[in-house]
Amino acid sequence: MAHLVTLIAGDGIGPEVAEATRRVLDATGVEIEWVLEDAGAAVLEREGTPLPDRVLEQIRRSRVAIKGPITTPVGGGFRSVNVALRHELDLFAAVRPSRSIPGVPTPHPGVDLVVIRENTEDLYRGVEYERGSPEAAALRAELRRLAGYTAREDAGFTVKPISVSGTRRIVRFALEFVRANGRRKVTLGHKSNIMRFSDGLFLSIGRSESEDHRDVWFEDMEIDQLSMRLTREPEAFDVLLLPNLYGDILSDLCAGLVGGLGLAAGANLGWEYAVFEPVHGSAPDIAGRGVANPVAMIRSGAMLLRHLGEHGAADVVESAVDRVLAAGEVRTPDLGGTSSTDEVAAGVAKDLQVPGPSG
Ligand code: ATP
Repeated sequence: MAHLVTLIAGDGIGPEVAEATRRVLDATGVEIEWVLEDAGAAVLEREGTPLPDRVLEQIRRSRVAIKGPITTPVGGGFRSVNVALRHELDLFAAVRPSRSIPGVPTPHPGVDLVVIRENTEDLYRGVEYERGSPEAAALRAELRRLAGYTAREDAGFTVKPISVSGTRRIVRFALEFVRANGRRKVTLGHKSNIMRFSDGLFLSIGRSESEDHRDVWFEDMEIDQLSMRLTREPEAFDVLLLPNLYGDILSDLCAGLVGGLGLAAGANLGWEYAVFEPVHGSAPDIAGRGVANPVAMIRSGAMLLRHLGEHGAADVVESAVDRVLAAGEVRTPDLGGTSSTDEVAAGVAKDLQVPGPSG
């Protein structure tokens, strides 16, 4: 039976890299029934919302989706579509691998990292009060009463909630991920000496949960020290477990360590639903020119295949991407080449060596 998958092309370079991805996944021979949905800037103009309910319903129906980047509309009272999707579908874990590929220039040839980012809490929860608003004034009064702290009258506020239950599930997810994927170590990043009741909680739950997974090497590190060490010896790390904001920042840093945003794939996972997407944004500067690197989204597609249980096809796509990049003949301009998005997709599709029934 064909796998039902929702495909959202997205904004900017989204349609270009989404088409390239569909072409490669179809070429694996895995039967996928694509359901196309729109979200983002174009839909906002047409329908007044960048994320219509029917898109969410369709993802709930198919349970699995892959999407291109979606621009966050400025103003209009709507927050990021990406953040809304994660909250609505309770996609609490972002998984973002970064691996050095032979032939792609990097000062760090031995990197093989996975960032696991908590996706629903922290400063990205969206609890914010604009400066000058009645809500900000009420919060100021409350803070004066509770903490004896008088915030400046012209201050805006963003609240950082981190819960025991929200942390426990992401810590368990990370520890189980290490076991299931033959990895060895989790490094938890925090700043608990400054933010004792949010980052401190994240750290203490991490430590206590790791007691129940003694086969997994667990360490913790302050986020500033971790950032510095990642730039010097990224090979020393394996799985990074991070609260939402640090996870967002360090996943871009890790992408930069191994060749840039054009290569970085990602998955957003919950207990019920999974949405795969490249780490990069809509790159309006190169949109419509046919030169966007489709590899990040193609690799997100390989993660999707694995999620569907199509491990053989996922391996085939990943190694075809590696071979094409290593050969260096077909590369988009962000990697120093002159090829188009379509040429990279065609190169990868041609290189797929789908194993037969005995392979
Ligand atoms: P958004 O507002 O949607 O986050 P952005 O332009 O601010 O978009 P990104 O698109 O994530 O941020 O990336 C920043 C820059 O990196 C882009 O402007 C583009 O030059 C480059 N870039 C990102 N993704 C790709 C890609 N797939 N191929 C080539 N270049 C890319």
